[in-house]
Amino acid sequence: MTRRAIILSLFFLFFLLPVSVSANDVYEVDADVLMVREGPSSDSDIIGKLKHGDRVSVFNESYGWYQTYFGGEKGWVASQYLVGTTDSNSENVDTNEEINITKENVRIRSGPGTNYRMIGSASLGDTYPLVETSGNWVKVELFSGNSGWIASWLTSKQTGSSSAESKDTVSNQSSDQAKGDLQGKTIILDPGHGGIDPGAIGMGGVFEKDLTLQVADDIATALRNAGAHVLLTRSDDRYVSLQQRVHISNAYNTDLFLSLHFNAMNSSAINGTSVHYYGEDSRQLAYQMQNDVSDHAGLTNRGVMQDGYYVLRNNQHQALLLELGFITNPHDLLTIQTQDYQVGLAKGITQGLVEYLQ
Ligand SMILES: [Zn+2]
Repeated sequence: MTRRAIILSLFFLFFLLPVSVSANDVYEVDADVLMVREGPSSDSDIIGKLKHGDRVSVFNESYGWYQTYFGGEKGWVASQYLVGTTDSNSENVDTNEEINITKENVRIRSGPGTNYRMIGSASLGDTYPLVETSGNWVKVELFSGNSGWIASWLTSKQTGSSSAESKDTVSNQSSDQAKGDLQGKTIILDPGHGGIDPGAIGMGGVFEKDLTLQVADDIATALRNAGAHVLLTRSDDRYVSLQQRVHISNAYNTDLFLSLHFNAMNSSAINGTSVHYYGEDSRQLAYQMQNDVSDHAGLTNRGVMQDGYYVLRNNQHQALLLELGFITNPHDLLTIQTQDYQVGLAKGITQGLVEYLQ
C-alpha cells in the first residue's frame, strides 16, 4: 500500500470507529500547521505549533481535543487534524536483534522523535532487545519491562550470532565521537561583547568578553569534530555590533545561532545558567539546550526564558542566547574557569545538537 493509501484508510477508520485513547497512542499531524494550546479549546492560549507529519503521543482526551507533550510541557491539539500511525511507518523486526548504545548519555523517549518526552537515559555499551523500528528510531525493551525509543544513529544493531562483529562497530564509532552527525549543519557561535565592550565585569576584574571567547573556542572545536560548519561572529577581542552579529546569521543558511554570555548581579549569592529564546520555533531547542548545559556544566539550572534580545528578535533562524553562569558568584566563577567546565559544556552542547538537529 502506498503511504497515501495507508493514511487515507486510517483517516476513514478514525471516523468510522469509536475512538478510544489509550496511554501513549501515537498520531501524525495531518494539517500544514497545528496549534498546540494550553487547554482543550480554540480560545485557549497557543503554546506552540506542530507541522505536517510531526508525531505526537496522546495520553488524554477531552471533547475532541487530545492532550500531548510539547517541548516538555503538556498541551492540547484539535483531534480532527491528527491521524493514527499504527504501523504505518514502522516495521516489526526479528526479536532476536539487539540494540547497542554507542554514545554516552543517550536519551530514551516515549515516541520516535525528539519532540517526545524523555523517559530515561542509556549509557555507552548498554544493550536492549529491539522491538521495532520507525524511520530513524528504534523501539527497545527496557530493563523495567516497559519500552522506549532511541535515535538509531546513537546505536548499532547486533544479532545474537554476530556479536563480535558488532563490538568492532561500537568501538570504531565511539573513537570517532559523533563524527559526521552534524554534517551539513551551519552553526553560528556568537561570543558576547568584545573590544571596547567588556560585558559584565566579575570578581577579580574578570571580563565577560574574554570568557565568552574561551568557551566559544571549545564549543567550535567540538561542533567541528562532529562535522558541523561553524562560523564565529568574532574570533578575537574586537567590537562587533549587534546588527552585524544578526547580519552574519541572516546571511547564511543557518541551522542555529548561539549567542554566548555570562551573567552578573550586584548580589554575589545569585548563580546558575539559563537559556533564552524569542521565536516559538526555538522554544523546543531551548529546553533541550538547558538540559544539556545543566547536565554538563554542573551549575544551578535557572531554566528557560523567553526574551526579546536583539540578536534573537531580529534573527531569521533558530537562535538561542546562553547565560553560562554568574561571574559575580565565587562558585560559578571558579567553575567557569576550569577546563572541565569548558570542555564538558562543549561536549554537552554538541551531543544535544547531534540529537536535535538530526
Ligand atoms: Zn553578555
